[in-house]
Amino acid sequence: MTSALFASLSVPDAFARYESVRPRLPRMPKPGAGMALPDLSAVADHVDGFLLDAFGVLNVGDTPIPGAVARIAALRARGKRLCVLTNAASYTRAGAVAKYRRLGFDFTPEEVVTSREVAAARLAVILPGGDWGAISAPEDDFHDIPARVGSVIDDPALFDRAEGFLFLSSVRWTPALQERLARAQADRPRPLVVANPDLVAPTETRLSLEPGLFAHDLIDRLGGTAHWFGKPYPDAFDDAAARLGLPRDRVAMVGDTLHTDVLGGAQAGMRTVLITGHGLFRGHDAGAAMQESGLVPDFIVPTT
Ligand SMILES: [Mg+2]
Repeated sequence: MTSALFASLSVPDAFARYESVRPRLPRMPKPGAGMALPDLSAVADHVDGFLLDAFGVLNVGDTPIPGAVARIAALRARGKRLCVLTNAASYTRAGAVAKYRRLGFDFTPEEVVTSREVAAARLAVILPGGDWGAISAPEDDFHDIPARVGSVIDDPALFDRAEGFLFLSSVRWTPALQERLARAQADRPRPLVVANPDLVAPTETRLSLEPGLFAHDLIDRLGGTAHWFGKPYPDAFDDAAARLGLPRDRVAMVGDTLHTDVLGGAQAGMRTVLITGHGLFRGHDAGAAMQESGLVPDFIVPTT
């Protein structure tokens, strides 16, 4: 059963899975108008700032989206405020900034918010002074996280000893480890913090399986809940809105997904933009997905 959880998902499978967990996602306040525009330069007439998803908006894997570097520079030249808001928890904000720089973007560290740091900043409230067992990428030393954190993959004794679990990265996760975590939580339920609520993420060739998928499986099986940080949940948007310093209705959240970017931006009181030509919906019927889910953005553009 657990190994089925690790089977690859198609885009329609992933959409169905997102719909099945809608009760655990924020509510969509009201669908947008779905106005079709050519690109973000046309959206710029309507807002003063942009909150930008990374994958599917700025880049696909290690390649910048054609025209995206120039578009971001042009938005900046028009005086638009910019901030990247990414559900990325495997590496630090400094790592994310370095990656965007390598791709040709000029974002400063203050213009990047990762779900990792949104979660990290709230660990002390959830479990003051607690010992965390992390599910993490190789070589993550947690130096940017203000809490006591160790890796349950490198030190399995933490499955028993940890007072809370912090799901950062699924790159090393396996069916056996998912079973081990389920057993640990069944024996002694502890807070589960999910620092990347995504179920899947498109790579150049397939959908990767992300921490949210495994956390929902645990909740399906054991009940309980999780502390979710990252899009579409509110804390990530609170932190990003503070960076932008603009009224929320003058900010456009731009992304390639409905259940994270569009839903998240809308619940935060921002305008929303779906990019259909890159990322999740590339080659798929975004219109049908919007209709079925009721997650309609204010603006629809094929590209950045
Ligand atoms: Mg994306």
